[in-house]
Amino acid sequence: MDLIASDNACGECNACCEFCDIDVLDKPSGTLCSHYDNGCSIYEDRPLACSSYQCMWHYQDSLGNRLPEKYRPDHLGVIFEKPYKADFWVAVEIKAGSIDTQECFSMIKAIERENSALLIKRNNGMVQHHLPETMTLEDFNIMYKKYIGG
Ligand code: SF4
Ligand code: SF4
Repeated sequence: MDLIASDNACGECNACCEFCDIDVLDKPSGTLCSHYDNGCSIYEDRPLACSSYQCMWHYQDSLGNRLPEKYRPDHLGVIFEKPYKADFWVAVEIKAGSIDTQECFSMIKAIERENSALLIKRNNGMVQHHLPETMTLEDFNIMYKKYIGG
């Protein structure tokens, strides 16, 4: 799946500002960022972790199709994001059970079609992996550790 920017805007969604760990801001997941005030109050100076954030909602497919409104993370209950320079996707469930909906199933299938790995972080703390047939969990863990390490 190529990342081609779409016109989809964040609107009222602030899911990543609440549900992402941002080390440089000392902000844990589940706490709304202190810089959030109807949008990012330090937008021009926000850290790289924020400016490089690749939320699937903001991208369209190669045919120019944008995701419909119900896929915006605050409606979907899940943020699908591609970590900066990573070769895998992460799904962060922000509402319990949302990852099991038909909409999320179609997102997971789209990631599967591009032969990419997906790390699912469920709302209850469980972690699941959705991997291409050619990738073992060990392969993924090596890739993930390399990514986390720098
Ligand atoms: S999760 Fe996506 S749509 Fe929501 S505020 Fe973050 S970047 Fe915008
Ligand atoms: S710095 Fe801005 S973009 Fe980053 S989490 Fe805080 S409010 Fe959101």
